[in-house]
Amino acid sequence: MAEKGKAAIYKGLGHRMEIVEYPISEPEPGAILLKTRRANICGSDLHVWRGDVDLANLGQPLPIIMGHEMTGTVVQLGEGVLTDSAGEPLATGDRIVHRYFYPCGHCWACLTGQDYACPLASFSVYGVSEDQPHFLGAYAEYYFIRPNHVVFKVPDDLSDEMVASANCALSQVIFGLEKVGLNFGETIVIQGAGGLGIYATAVAKEMGAKKVIVIDGIDERLEMAKAFGADELIDMRQLATPAERMMKVRELTDGWGANVVAELVGFPHIVAEGLDLLGNGGRYLEIGNISPLKTFEFDPSAIVLNNKSIIGVMLYPPPTLKKALDLLSRTKNKYPFDKILSHSYPLEEINEAFAEQDKGHICRSSIVL
Ligand SMILES: [Zn+2]
Ligand SMILES: [Zn+2]
Repeated sequence: MAEKGKAAIYKGLGHRMEIVEYPISEPEPGAILLKTRRANICGSDLHVWRGDVDLANLGQPLPIIMGHEMTGTVVQLGEGVLTDSAGEPLATGDRIVHRYFYPCGHCWACLTGQDYACPLASFSVYGVSEDQPHFLGAYAEYYFIRPNHVVFKVPDDLSDEMVASANCALSQVIFGLEKVGLNFGETIVIQGAGGLGIYATAVAKEMGAKKVIVIDGIDERLEMAKAFGADELIDMRQLATPAERMMKVRELTDGWGANVVAELVGFPHIVAEGLDLLGNGGRYLEIGNISPLKTFEFDPSAIVLNNKSIIGVMLYPPPTLKKALDLLSRTKNKYPFDKILSHSYPLEEINEAFAEQDKGHICRSSIVL
């Protein structure tokens, strides 16, 4: 094992990430030391980088190593770690994916089988990088998976490109679509064809959606949505107003409206439009908006009078990550999963990678280590 590893550290609003070196220590009992292979730029990382989310203001001590959507290779297993969470034996050199947050295990949410809703889970993602064991974020050569983790071995037939988004984007939309109760034969509108929207398109098709309608305004993203099974595309450059898009969705749903609408891009002002796209009894899935204090205006009687509901979903339960790997294995020849990570950068170019991703035309970028 090397003695030191490189990491990109984030010190707070307005700072570029800096490359530093930290000493590598042995994993504590129950933990796993990984060599990072790919670490992606997830929308939530971009919100922090852009300054939409002030981590210090949310109570997160800094500096940290950002990043959570990733895959890596086992360097060393802590005492007592013998298998993955499905009971498969684990050894040095195995590629794995892990759940990147750590619920407390004893709050009301944890005790009632909803550990994704644990108030401590989202605060457990990062740790202060100055403190041991340093490597608690993805943008680094090494990463410590803490005790009480959920990890799964990556099947040999899946490449790093295919699995690197499994532990965030893909698992998030699988659980979201389950939670909103997307049923066989229903019609869904997806707002935004970024990484989440592209995965959601394929997942909705695999769950038996009759029609998947994707709204976006960038050619590359609309083309990806098509490749991932979208039945209909709505180009926001052609249908530029919410009223025009609503007319189109009505036309595509025999005048009824969508059964499910999923917001996967993170703009508050599109929530009202999305709720209007629902037919009576429809369900709205909210995943994209994670920046606090951003609001929208809406007439709540439209929910009551039309029996609509809004489901907010953050994080996911342990089996979802296994379902994500199984889905990738099952459908890898049907959808171009290896194309989602369209741009790769070395760790040293992480600030440039974020700046490019921020321009909006890139589906998803990845730091390759
Ligand atoms: Zn993420
Ligand atoms: Zn808890």
